[in-house]
Amino acid sequence: MAQHGHKKMVLCNDRDTGLRAIIAIHSTQLGPATGGLRMRPYATEEEAMLDALRLARGMTYKYAAAGVNLGGGKAVIVGDPKRDKTEALLRAFGRFLDQMGGEYMTGEDVGTTLADMETIFTETNYVVTLPTHCGGAGDIAPATALGCVQATKACARRVWGTDDLKGRKIALQGLGAVGSNALRMLVEEKAQIVVSDIDAKRVEAAVAEFGVKAVAPEDIYSQDVDIFAPYALGGVINDETIPRLRAKIVAGSANNIFAEDRHGDELERRGIVYAVDYVANSGGTIFDTDRLRKGGFQPERAWANVRKIYERIEEVFQIADRDHIPCYRAADRMAEERIASMKCVRLLAPAALPH
Ligand code: NAD
Repeated sequence: MAQHGHKKMVLCNDRDTGLRAIIAIHSTQLGPATGGLRMRPYATEEEAMLDALRLARGMTYKYAAAGVNLGGGKAVIVGDPKRDKTEALLRAFGRFLDQMGGEYMTGEDVGTTLADMETIFTETNYVVTLPTHCGGAGDIAPATALGCVQATKACARRVWGTDDLKGRKIALQGLGAVGSNALRMLVEEKAQIVVSDIDAKRVEAAVAEFGVKAVAPEDIYSQDVDIFAPYALGGVINDETIPRLRAKIVAGSANNIFAEDRHGDELERRGIVYAVDYVANSGGTIFDTDRLRKGGFQPERAWANVRKIYERIEEVFQIADRDHIPCYRAADRMAEERIASMKCVRLLAPAALPH
């Protein structure tokens, strides 16, 4: 915790329900710590703690870079979501969360669902991601997709001087919640799209609805396209795939797409423009935290802020050019600069910011 400046870690144990959970708070500099609740059968408690701490720190950067006034936090429950998740266990977690008095707010993540958030909400108000009937923003995938498309357009402008995607060839990997929404938007932009998914039904549906071309999952990297759009999983930019890429841009929603940081350097060396994952995919986050702002959830304001991801990506390019660093490092710098600048605001007017 000292090494990465984490603020707090809370260990929760409830014998009656079998709940073992960890709540990690990295920073509350910009606002209350916020981040999803992950449920996984971690092999050890140490592994769970390290995951919570790592993910909490990531959220600090994500919010800061997205221009959202929230701090970074994350919670994990040790257990198999398919086997161990019960209403009682989730409600026990909700009670622990409530005791924190708003220092940490939660949302869905791997292993938890919107319905789980509704269950936790019966015990505490400190839940951000909620269905619309509970006052939440509902499904955030369309907002995530819009942000990614905006990021793609900002990259296009950097490469070709225009953000018009008409006629641009795009290889889109993954037709899940975000990928399918992005596909629809990119079709509306009149891009020429080739898709892949390991789920044949999703591929069939996309081909039937949009008349796009489909290729086998392993062939998506080597397509003769302008843009590679990863909407499936992390680690897809690696030693094996980079030499096969023919695209000038890599932009999508998938988190942690580099197998290692050096793959980000390698893209840069090859002159491939990259829309930094956690900036490009922050649309859902921007959308569902809008309800915490003045006046409660205002869809128009929320969508307008999601569209600003275009400018955030351009800001990343400016910092990369200014400091002669790759984009993935420039995004971290953008986040750190925002947090540092807010420290001054806090010194001047400590009461003006949430604690
Ligand atoms: P999802 O599970 O709904 O969709 C993922 C899709 O990728 C599925 O259709 C799956 O079959 C497919 N897939 C898996 N492996 C594949 C492979 N090797 N080749 C081709 N397709 C493959 O997930 P999602 O919510 O759409 O998220 C997609 C990515 O975006 C994830 O990396 C996620 O972390 C990230 N993300 C999502 C959101 C969001 O709002 N849902 C927000 C930020 C980041």
